[in-house]
Amino acid sequence: MTSYPDGALAMLKARGYRVTKPRRLVLEALDQARAPLSPYEVAQHLRLVGERADAASIYRIFHTLEANGLVHRIIANGKYRKCQLAPEDECERHQTQHCHHSLVCRVCGRIEEFHCPGLNLVEQAIAAQTRFAIESHALEFAGVCDQCHAH
Ligand SMILES: [Zn+2]
Ligand SMILES: [Zn+2]
Ligand SMILES: [Zn+2]
Repeated sequence: MTSYPDGALAMLKARGYRVTKPRRLVLEALDQARAPLSPYEVAQHLRLVGERADAASIYRIFHTLEANGLVHRIIANGKYRKCQLAPEDECERHQTQHCHHSLVCRVCGRIEEFHCPGLNLVEQAIAAQTRFAIESHALEFAGVCDQCHAH
């Protein structure tokens, strides 16, 4: 199985982005993190391990990753987690197009990813009802994961 950094870099490369060392370092930091991180925390971590990392360029990297659906913001705390990268060939929609919602376990803190094709229909219905031009939605689920409620 491809690792998260390799998978994400391959997707960026396929879309014409360069594979740079800072981009790889950010992806690796997110891959190794046990909890979501802020760009500021990633910059701090990289400096601790002796890499040059100014906050502004780390923010830009997060912006690129988020625009490509490769990192996701946790609504509850504004930090970012890695994408679980559903293989694009198993999905009719591209990484940037499908929804990546978080299921956050309040017991162990584990975060699972949930894609929600059905919500597009809800969105269309709401748009028709309200005449609001919906561009995106944000949704997060809190609860207890299957491993925690098995105990
Ligand atoms: Zn995702
Ligand atoms: Zn959604
Ligand atoms: Zn749990």
